[in-house]
Amino acid sequence: MLRRSFSRISPLLSNGLVLRSGPRCCSPHRFCSSSHSSATLNPSVSREEESRESPRPAATVSIDRSGLYNPPEHSHEPSSVPELVKHLKSIIKFRGGPISVAEYMEEVLTNPQSGFYINRDVFGAGGDFITSPDVSQMFGEMVGVWTVCLWEQMGQPENVNLVELGPGRGTLMADLLRSSSKFSKFTKSLNIHMVECSPALQKVQYSTLKCADEAMNDDGSAKRTISMLSGSSISWHATLEQVPLGLPTIIIAHEFYDALPVHQFQKTPRGWCEKMIDISEDSLFRFVLSPQPTPASLLYLTKRCRWASSEEKRDLEHIEVCPKAMELTHQIAKRISLDGGGALIVDYGKDGLISDSLQAIRKHKFVDILDNPGSADLSAYVDFASLRHSAEEVSDNISVHGPITQSQFLGSLGINFRVEALLQNCTEEQAESLRAGYWRFVGDGEAPFWEGPDELTPIGMGTRYLAMAIVNKKQGTPIAFE
Ligand code: SAH
Repeated sequence: MLRRSFSRISPLLSNGLVLRSGPRCCSPHRFCSSSHSSATLNPSVSREEESRESPRPAATVSIDRSGLYNPPEHSHEPSSVPELVKHLKSIIKFRGGPISVAEYMEEVLTNPQSGFYINRDVFGAGGDFITSPDVSQMFGEMVGVWTVCLWEQMGQPENVNLVELGPGRGTLMADLLRSSSKFSKFTKSLNIHMVECSPALQKVQYSTLKCADEAMNDDGSAKRTISMLSGSSISWHATLEQVPLGLPTIIIAHEFYDALPVHQFQKTPRGWCEKMIDISEDSLFRFVLSPQPTPASLLYLTKRCRWASSEEKRDLEHIEVCPKAMELTHQIAKRISLDGGGALIVDYGKDGLISDSLQAIRKHKFVDILDNPGSADLSAYVDFASLRHSAEEVSDNISVHGPITQSQFLGSLGINFRVEALLQNCTEEQAESLRAGYWRFVGDGEAPFWEGPDELTPIGMGTRYLAMAIVNKKQGTPIAFE
């Protein structure tokens, strides 16, 4: 099966696509440091990596506060206080009590006025963190291989929805389209849908994908947007629900699920209590525990725990549950069950219950979750087991594959052949970047071959990132998951 897959994808691995010019693969400062104690900016730390290696600032959790503090009725914040801080405090004040960590996370990341993602480009050396598509073009190319193969398994339909959830700068989609451009039947079939809540990032994606607006009638009253990289039509939506139904669909979610809001629960002598956020006497955000079960604990913690074995639950003092991830997976599975196709989810996480993983990163450094909300990224490990259960609940005609490690996923797709092909025709500097990028994608720990400065040693994400596929059973087993 694998050999057959390779013969199908070999043109994608060795096609004439050259190294993209520009700074992405070439600038040495893009590769990561293993030391996070240094005061200097480390512009290439992935979110997961940062959490693994940095000591997390202690967050104070007050247990069993029966009388939660209510801020004074007529307190007026000085005008220098960021809008989002004022907004969060006003929710807590008017609610007359604390909010869940999930509500806090959702406001911090996607509040339509001042959420972390909403008004700016948060990626890369000048931003807050880096993701795989920005490390090397090979990442988007390999996802392109997977997508073309799935489209073949779907019977090469003439009209397909290709949906990306949370496309960031649009780099993954651009590399996917460039690398598959020789498969004109494939690129012609595409209706691309970008699900993106951030107007600022939508603009960046429009430019990365070399988009242009085209009049659909003589008076120019109807327009459609085309990506000049593939000639495909492209549109933007705030949610997956807004993407039209009725066409076979391929969905890609890379580092999207980790941005969905999580509820946090803590074991206490009174049972599982929900971690909440309120305001202290000195007007700072602080964690408290709910005095009694909350709707989220009754609904979602109970549901999630039914999917776990008693051994898995026994030693856990904390559990994180992401209802939005469960709902989204439901929606994806339903769509695929009705329209055919499949979804690929790549993220950092675990194939089981997650304990306490929520983290905040600002300017490539780990910071306190409650410090200046809206100015730092918040993300949490993805509970792949809960995604599998959520998808399987939907219908008997879908199947869930994986999770497998990113290293297995990219290896099966032929990343080693692709890196060799690219190394044939590049400068010494590009070769160094390619090797470092390759290690970051499939390696585990610090790269043994590295001869550059210690603080720039590439750290492998190969086993810490996982890949899962959800497909309509008609499609058979997707490539890389055989
Ligand atoms: N996939 C990209 C970016 C990951 S960061 C990459 O790998 O580089 C998360 C992305 O999801 C950002 O583009 C962010 O704006 C978007 N996003 C986060 N929460 C969202 C939500 N609830 N709805 C739609 N988009 C969201």
